[in-house]
Amino acid sequence: MRKIVIAGNWKMYKTNQEAVKVLSELKDLVKDVKNVEIVIGAPFTTLSDAVKAVEGSNIKIAAENVYPKQEGAFTGEISPNMLKAIGVSHVIIGHSERREIFKETDEFINEKVKAVLENGLVPIFCIGEKLEERESGKTLEINSNQVRKGLKDLTKEEAKKVIVAYEPVWAIGTGKTATPEMAQETHKEIRKVLADMFGQEVANEMTIQYGGSMKPENAKDLLGQADIDGGLVGGASLKADSFFEIIKAAK
Ligand code: PEP
Repeated sequence: MRKIVIAGNWKMYKTNQEAVKVLSELKDLVKDVKNVEIVIGAPFTTLSDAVKAVEGSNIKIAAENVYPKQEGAFTGEISPNMLKAIGVSHVIIGHSERREIFKETDEFINEKVKAVLENGLVPIFCIGEKLEERESGKTLEINSNQVRKGLKDLTKEEAKKVIVAYEPVWAIGTGKTATPEMAQETHKEIRKVLADMFGQEVANEMTIQYGGSMKPENAKDLLGQADIDGGLVGGASLKADSFFEIIKAAK
């Protein structure tokens, strides 16, 4: 059985106080949720208090980025072991905003995935095509390349721990969502690539989330698809009640 994971990505939203408030509300709402892993990706400044705010609950906390070294002269960066030390369990890696705005390459993303796994954290590894790539028929090629390069040289055991988040870039923050059929088709192809890299058994166990304007109104249809094993949610994760609606749709 694949794990169903609903993860929020708060991006650069919320002060520490705001984060703790929403997490306290969410903690209450999700207390009876079983069979869905719940993760919130929050800004670095909130992480320590976020972990404390969800203590004893079924919510896990993710960082939204990491630097792939243990320590050193890397001014302004945060290492996987620093995250681990405060109780963070997941790290969002290779989000399209980081690929686009911060020019992160597949090779750098691969270093991050490995560093995170070596420290016992779970990578939420993001991939996805841009609109012009979809329109020119390159969706599969782009996603396949990102998977092959981003998860290069992982062992089967490591691969099993990775959460893949398929996020068509044209659907992120735009209100445009891939239709459930469109998303399913790409998820199925991504799983084929994973099977080619790590074997069918491993691929069958790997969680592949959909991300891109997932909201309470469309979550059930998307999450009802055979190869969609959860969601990475931006805008609709900022409020506890809308995020909870999506979690309920996954149950
Ligand atoms: C995201 O930030 O990964 C995302 C999918 O955003 P949104 O849900 O707002 O499109």
